[in-house]
Amino acid sequence: MSNSDIFDVAIVGYGPAGQVAAGLLGQRGLKVYVCERLPDVYEIPRAISLDHEIMRVFQQLGVVQAIEPYTEPFTNSEYFGVDGQLIRRMTMVAPPYPQGYTPSVVFTQPPVERALRARVAQLPNVTVELGVEMRGLAQDGQGVSLQIEAQGQLRTVRARYAIACDGGSSGVRTQLGIEMLDLDFDEPWLVVDVLVNAQGLARLPKVSVQYCEPERPCTLVIGPKNHRRWEISILPGEDPKEVATPEHTWKLLSRWLSPEDGQLWRQASYRFHALVARQWRQGRVFLAGDAAHMQPPFLGQGMCQGIRDVGNLSWKLAAVLQGEVGGQHAQALLDSYGAERQAHVRELTSRIKAVGAVICERDPAKARERDARLLQECGGTVRDTPRQDILPRLECGLLSAQPSAARGSLFPQPLLQGQRMDEVAGHGWRLVLAQDVDAPNAALLASPMTVVQLGGQDDPEGVATGWFRRFECVAALVRPDNYVFGIARSAAEVAVLMQEAQAALGGATN
Ligand SMILES: Cc1cc2nc3c(=O)[nH]c(=O)nc-3n(C[C@H](O)[C@H](O)[C@H](O)COP(=O)(O)OP(=O)(O)OC[C@H]3O[C@@H](n4cnc5c(N)ncnc54)[C@H](O)[C@@H]3O)c2cc1C
Repeated sequence: MSNSDIFDVAIVGYGPAGQVAAGLLGQRGLKVYVCERLPDVYEIPRAISLDHEIMRVFQQLGVVQAIEPYTEPFTNSEYFGVDGQLIRRMTMVAPPYPQGYTPSVVFTQPPVERALRARVAQLPNVTVELGVEMRGLAQDGQGVSLQIEAQGQLRTVRARYAIACDGGSSGVRTQLGIEMLDLDFDEPWLVVDVLVNAQGLARLPKVSVQYCEPERPCTLVIGPKNHRRWEISILPGEDPKEVATPEHTWKLLSRWLSPEDGQLWRQASYRFHALVARQWRQGRVFLAGDAAHMQPPFLGQGMCQGIRDVGNLSWKLAAVLQGEVGGQHAQALLDSYGAERQAHVRELTSRIKAVGAVICERDPAKARERDARLLQECGGTVRDTPRQDILPRLECGLLSAQPSAARGSLFPQPLLQGQRMDEVAGHGWRLVLAQDVDAPNAALLASPMTVVQLGGQDDPEGVATGWFRRFECVAALVRPDNYVFGIARSAAEVAVLMQEAQAALGGATN
């Protein structure tokens, strides 16, 4: 790499958010630079679950096959109350799966990260430097200059835009002076990963468990193969460091396992924190992933949120850098990133906190009330409750002005002639029309846009047809990140929707 190279986008940090950003931007043909302090993938898993939206992004990156050996469907989850009685059972939603994948998946993080990096390595326009550190950053009207330290030498890397994917203690965020807003959750927890042997597996529950016990709430997650995770709350007065020693950890695990039953993979105490950056963009620099937000892991959404961030940002940056959107429209498009993602993160974090409040009730009287309420809600007998999709929609940003329950939601991915929609229709703007709805006049499609007209042989599972029925519409304008810009209830409304999108983007919807 020569010092005169100017990249389109520089990415600081090569964790999951940086990897997906590099892949998506690289696939769009942009010249991308990535720097990462560590020499290799971080070998300790943190995230253990992800959802179908993320699998669809992995599909876009072409890594689904490579990661399949390291993923399994999430098991059912059982919740036990104060007296050890079953109070709730959450089960997997039955197929058909709207996004084309099991809605909730457990996975092993290090090999999945390696698969993402292998994909990026196939892109000649992406330069990744490992074992180097970003020391400082400055920006002007034309671009961003990163100070990169490699083997004790400092040099400058220049890019038109930069994304800080440098994790929770983001140096970029600190340097920009961007404050984290406290969303009012801050608790110490011990996280323990165990590779359990056959003897230990025989002793453990076969489903994931929430032990909603006021004296010490904890969670057991059934990971892939023989990987089991415990998240155990640390009590006031306990020293998080002491709790994380192997001796103390085995003491806490003794209810389930003894050291002959498996091998500690890692144990670490964490602050489960809910934080969001006040500002997501400063000039040409964007925050994404843990650099922009942190949330307690009760729904396994931290990494997913980071991947959503870069899924949202990458097509907008590409549209601006490749000249499809210019001037004030370009600025508005780039600003929509932070507006959309911050509101989404705040809403999801409040839902995560609500789930946490059920699990973590420390007051025995209130915990008993909770148990009684949950049992009353199901008529005294715990029934299978399919895990509802509790992910919020986008509520603001680059969306149609016409409100609807579908606007800002993820559009499903039907099978078209036996192939998944994104494989056929690509990852640009897509106008999806229900069966028998006429395609709009070609003049309305002034800029490249893929029209997906559902035919008689399409959507055998009914995921799109059911979606149109549910939202009482005949067409959806779908953004490159698979979120619905808006819907039309008639062929005439399709024209209005198209004009609205083109006006918002200054003519471009490709
Ligand atoms: C116990 C626990 C359980 C979790 N469970 C889940 C789960 O089930 N599902 C889920 O979706 N999420 C989960 N999460 C959250 C998830 O792990 C994180 O949100 C995710 O790893 C963050 O990814 P990231 O790429 O934003 O940051 P990171 O993974 O932190 O990556 C940042 C990278 O930037 C590098 N870096 C930092 N500064 C510099 C610099 N100056 N120069 C160069 N490189 C730099 C770092 O070395 C690092 O590799 C969990 C988290 C914890 C702690």
